[in-house]
Amino acid sequence: MSIQLDFRTLSLTLMLFSIVFGLGMFAYSREHAKFSGIKTIGTGYFLIGGGCVLLGLRHFIHDFASVVLSNLAIIMGVILIYRGLFRFLGISLRFERWLSPALLLFLAPVLYFFTFHVPDVSPRIQAFSATFAVASFIGAWGLLQHPETRSRSVTRMLIGMFLIVTAFFIFRVLWSFYDVPPENFMNAGLLSSLAVIAGEFLVILSSFATIWMASDELQHELSEIARVDPLTGAYNRRAFDEACEIEFSRSLRSGSAFTIIMCDLDHFKKVNDQYGHHVGDQVLKRFADILRGRVRKHDVVARFGGEEFVLLLPNNNTEQGMHVAEQLKAKTAATQIELGRDIDLAISASFGVAQYCIGDREWSAVLHRADNALYAAKKQGRNRVVVLASASQSLEAGADVDPTAHCNI
Ligand code: GH3
Ligand code: MG
Ligand code: MG
Repeated sequence: MSIQLDFRTLSLTLMLFSIVFGLGMFAYSREHAKFSGIKTIGTGYFLIGGGCVLLGLRHFIHDFASVVLSNLAIIMGVILIYRGLFRFLGISLRFERWLSPALLLFLAPVLYFFTFHVPDVSPRIQAFSATFAVASFIGAWGLLQHPETRSRSVTRMLIGMFLIVTAFFIFRVLWSFYDVPPENFMNAGLLSSLAVIAGEFLVILSSFATIWMASDELQHELSEIARVDPLTGAYNRRAFDEACEIEFSRSLRSGSAFTIIMCDLDHFKKVNDQYGHHVGDQVLKRFADILRGRVRKHDVVARFGGEEFVLLLPNNNTEQGMHVAEQLKAKTAATQIELGRDIDLAISASFGVAQYCIGDREWSAVLHRADNALYAAKKQGRNRVVVLASASQSLEAGADVDPTAHCNI
């Protein structure tokens, strides 16, 4: 049994794939306009499909269209596929901006010369394959620069795809030096048929990968929504618990400290009673902004409930935590919220600070100490910071901690 890989039939299937997937990409990008690059990828598919149509019309239309334009359209299509992927993933390659057009500027005169001046299929195949190999390599190179960890397996798959296509076209260039030159591109043998299959591979895999990455992105967005408080944009309690869990295990392994600050707006009920819930909400948003504005990138600010917020400061001890809390207290007290009609509302907040101590059985022990410190701050008159520097201090307040726990980390 022999397998017939007829070039014309394969070109037809590539054309169909490209057009169907191109339409699919356009439809998807209409529904999900926030993703950039998908239309570019779709346009790339259309160009490949169009190139195949022109290629299939060889001897029916002018050679300029069936040889020069068709090959240029296919290479341009490959360029648009990786450009779309780069745009989708936010990759920017400076050299790609001039190298990709340079590939087309190189290919066009070579195809023209070996079609109309010295008709010869071999150099045309070599030039086309070399530009295809370079274009695929640029695709792989660009994706390798992508630091994103979310869709790592998909980007790896795409890199593998581009590298396989690169290797194939390099092989095709090298092989053409040993092979008997074909009389006609349409009967250029198995390698030409495999080249079309490489094109199909590129179209199918890149579209599949794009939709996969888009769904990863949407899933990530959904899980972020489930972790964020809609009013203030701060994390919610669930996200805070997860972050503390991770930080606690890190501290158990490495012995590094982390600090929790609990804070609560002073006399917030009066704000609601006097100015209404709407103003109360405004104050909550502003307070969350103040908290987020002061902390580092990996610190976590969460709304614990009502007008109570909590901060997780990894790699910080009580001294550093106290410094942060003092700054936040000062910033809050200095904030005037404009309510219109020349009314400015002054606010203040109280802060409780505690750090992880060796011997703490759970991260909630630290939270408990921070809560006790906050309670003490309220009791001492509000608008202040109270620090519980040792685990034993919180025993008086009834926390479930080991009295031998020590905090000098
Ligand atoms: P203290 O200084 O002791 O903390 O007094 P306080 O008035 O701030 O504390 P209290 O716990 O008595 O009041 C908290 C108020 O926060 C009561 C509740 O109506 C209000 N609150 C809780 N969640 C929200 C919210 O999402 N929006 C608004 N506007 N108010 C809220
Ligand atoms: Mg309060
Ligand atoms: Mg409260």
